[in-house]
Amino acid sequence: MKPISDVVQATPASGIRRFFDIVSQMHDVISLGVGEPDFDTPWRISEACIYSLERGKTHYTSNYGTPELRQAISEYWNQHEGLEYNWEDQILITVGVSEAMDLAMRAILNPGDEVICPEPCYVSYKPCIAFAGGVPVPIPCYMDNEFRVTPEHIKAAITPRTKAVLISYPSNPTGATASREMLQQIVDIAKAHDLWIISDEIYDRLTYDGRHTCVPTLPGAYERTILLNGFSKAYAMTGWRIGYACGNAEVIEAMMKIHQYTILCAPIMGQVAAVEAICSGYEASQEMVEEYNRRRHVIVKGLNDAGLKCVMPGGAFYAFPSIVETGLSSDEFSERLLFEEKVAVVPGTAFGECGEGHIRCSYATSIEKIERAIEHIGRFVSKLTG
Ligand code: PLP
Repeated sequence: MKPISDVVQATPASGIRRFFDIVSQMHDVISLGVGEPDFDTPWRISEACIYSLERGKTHYTSNYGTPELRQAISEYWNQHEGLEYNWEDQILITVGVSEAMDLAMRAILNPGDEVICPEPCYVSYKPCIAFAGGVPVPIPCYMDNEFRVTPEHIKAAITPRTKAVLISYPSNPTGATASREMLQQIVDIAKAHDLWIISDEIYDRLTYDGRHTCVPTLPGAYERTILLNGFSKAYAMTGWRIGYACGNAEVIEAMMKIHQYTILCAPIMGQVAAVEAICSGYEASQEMVEEYNRRRHVIVKGLNDAGLKCVMPGGAFYAFPSIVETGLSSDEFSERLLFEEKVAVVPGTAFGECGEGHIRCSYATSIEKIERAIEHIGRFVSKLTG
């Protein structure tokens, strides 16, 4: 048999999946591992889908997505951020932000083009760049700067092959947020070097301290930014698989071309549900955000009390404490914690090399489970540090 593609072979399987294959074989594990809301989709949203199924809405949609959803998204951004995205040609509905990310990379990259990408970052970013023929250029970010990238480091990484900067605030896995000033500096750099900005803002609604800055609203950003967002996190809709991209008509058409030949359209059921989420889901989403915020304080205090230094994440639903004091690597710590204390976390290295010395703890789980997990982590850490 001829070999599998070199690029695919060279890409390691996701560190998260490997770990959760082990977890799924075990009983009574307290999981701080999953990156998805523990809430069910608000009932009104599910009900809208059921009602539409009863009316026979089970067909393909336009490649771009249903007009209703694109119009709702266009209005949403106009009302909330004053952004003008023409629903007909500047918005593409995708199978989650996952597909939108893949399309964005394939639409803009030629072989060998470089994409600057702050790390630790979501597990899909580097593979998506590589699968599209590009070269990821990671910029390590550390706890002493609260995991924020510094614009100077971005500037220093630019070469004649740089095509884009990929940013995502609030961040998975660190929960880091970015100030308006810092984002404006990144936009200014992108403008000066004529780079695309891909901004994955899937956690925008899960911002706890202050207001999220939506990148394309910044002066100089709109034309060059592909804004990615979706319904998975803010509305507890991971399984519905609906995301979208907004950008200039040329890049959205390029992304649509790939989507048209490979996916056809995002599932109609999810698109119907997403319209309902925009129209009536705000309150339910806000209640979830308030609950995450309560959990955030419990987990960060608990981890620090247990001896794992942890900065307060400003967004998303992850804490990213240091485990350096224990003398174990991230992989060793996570594996031993799982087998000895039955608590699942994700090793920081799943999100890039600079994640070594950290673990990702998701607080998309109940306060009761967080408190029990912390008790076990505390016992485990004391065993290691004496
Ligand atoms: N982007 C980030 C930063 C994520 O954390 C995730 C999922 O965890 C995704 C994108 C994928 O989201 P979706 O369910 O919309 O494909």
